[in-house]
Amino acid sequence: MLGTNPDPTYQNVPRPAKSAKWRIPQERMKPGPGVPHRHDNHHVPSGEVEAQGLGPCCTRTGVLLLLLSLCVVLLCGVTALAVLYGMKTSEERSNAVLGPSAERCSLDWESYGGKCYHFSHDTFDWTAGRDKCVSMGGQLVIIESREEQMYITEKCKVTLDDFWIGLTDSEREGHWKWVDNSDLKNITFWHRGQPNNSGGINNIYVDGEDCAIMRYVEKTELHWFDQYCAQLNKIICEARSR
Ligand code: CA
Repeated sequence: MLGTNPDPTYQNVPRPAKSAKWRIPQERMKPGPGVPHRHDNHHVPSGEVEAQGLGPCCTRTGVLLLLLSLCVVLLCGVTALAVLYGMKTSEERSNAVLGPSAERCSLDWESYGGKCYHFSHDTFDWTAGRDKCVSMGGQLVIIESREEQMYITEKCKVTLDDFWIGLTDSEREGHWKWVDNSDLKNITFWHRGQPNNSGGINNIYVDGEDCAIMRYVEKTELHWFDQYCAQLNKIICEARSR
């Protein structure tokens, strides 16, 4: 058995006396050079004891101040990053709504071809419609290309309403001019038989038809009609993008 038959290999090895088992040589208990005796620091406050070995920067108060400073710096950094992130996401959100910076439009205006377009819900006579567009920072639309005509046609197709455009011959019959006072040139989209300056049945429109509208008609790109300027129609305004 393990307890009753000790290994004979170690039977003859001399063992130290039991009383010497926990005895520590006196030389090892002596403090080294520069190390204070136990009784030397018996009445010294603990903070000063730490200060003697590690210096003033590493006292408990110093460490706390250092940690506090690091926390403040970290908090400032996190706050700055949060602000920058907020600005970036705000700008991205703005671009998502308004499009790229070159084509930014106000609320209720649509971006197309570098310009902004507003299709009204309210109706106006031609003069009031012209003034309304100006009051919103634009003008009644001037159609300068087939692409622009096609874009406006698609919008008019949705509601099938008549819309005033910025074209009139009210100053001189047959001499059509845009609202910027430029003459109507070669690009025109008059519907078949238009403009006819109709006075209406029994010539009720004494002055004839001197203002132009967009009216969607199927199977054609030609949607301009002249109409009596006092009629109430929706308006198409255009403006430069911001
Ligand atoms: Ca006319």
